[in-house]
Amino acid sequence: MSFNNIYGHDKNKEYFKKIFESKKISHSYIFDGVEGIGKKLFAMNLIKTIMCKNEDFISCEICNSCKKINHMNHPDVMIIEPDGNSIKNNQVKEFQKFLSYKPNESKYKIVIINDSNKMTLSSQNTILKILEEPPEYGIIIFISNNSNNLLETIKSRSQIIKFKKLLNDEVQSFLISELKLSNDKAVSIALFSDGIINKAYQAYENSEFLEIRERIIDYSNQLIFNDKINAIKGIAYLNKEKDNILLIFDIMIGWIRDILIVQATSNYDIVLNKDKSELIKKNSYKLVDKNLVIVIEKINQTINDLDNNINYKLAIDNLILNIIE
Ligand SMILES: [Zn+2]
Repeated sequence: MSFNNIYGHDKNKEYFKKIFESKKISHSYIFDGVEGIGKKLFAMNLIKTIMCKNEDFISCEICNSCKKINHMNHPDVMIIEPDGNSIKNNQVKEFQKFLSYKPNESKYKIVIINDSNKMTLSSQNTILKILEEPPEYGIIIFISNNSNNLLETIKSRSQIIKFKKLLNDEVQSFLISELKLSNDKAVSIALFSDGIINKAYQAYENSEFLEIRERIIDYSNQLIFNDKINAIKGIAYLNKEKDNILLIFDIMIGWIRDILIVQATSNYDIVLNKDKSELIKKNSYKLVDKNLVIVIEKINQTINDLDNNINYKLAIDNLILNIIE
């Protein structure tokens, strides 16, 4: 995969093309943006392009360097992932050592720190020391979905590259060209993904996605309009769909959010479920004696609870009974 296969992020591609051509690569970049929009993939392609034997801003995919990066065994590239919930000081020490030796096969040594917002304070301090005097050949790319967690002193020594969500058209092109989806399916999944390509990919991988979506939109309406009988019936389905529950909650939140948006602004351009504008309109006219913002909060609270290993059935029962009470 080269930059040609990366969808979206055109501005950042342009930016790095210029840097590449001027050969003025900095020692430190922070790729900042929400989870799931392709920052790491972009970084992998960038380092491939930098290290490729090809002189153009496009990786050839056939030279040794490209092959090794694709196989994750390039001796001059190191990728750090969190160890458990954080990136610890000993991991940073390891790459400090890695950077202390000259490159083996290329002009650079590159470290990608994924989820870098999970670096502990002491590991950030070690990195700061590296950034104060980086080796000439060293490049560090911090990938972060919350650069607020990075020390100001690290940020001031880095180029911050903002990554935005993809446009709906870009996600659609990805789904049609790369994953060979039909137009209709691509439209629904792209809308649902809200510009987060990873979310689109997961929906694509879930063969039941479209069916689940229809069902959950119906169910969300039953909850909102207090159709208690059907709401309680639906609990059995939710209990059965443990593997899909995050997707289900995502669909619910998106749906309720759409109704709130239309109630507040009548702006259909910013709703997620554009293909269901008529139904959103109908719902937004109906009187809801429920505070929908609180319903969203309750769902988010349940997501948190499940993350903390609370009993699944109990969490689902509580949530639904709580919403329809
Ligand atoms: Zn190459």
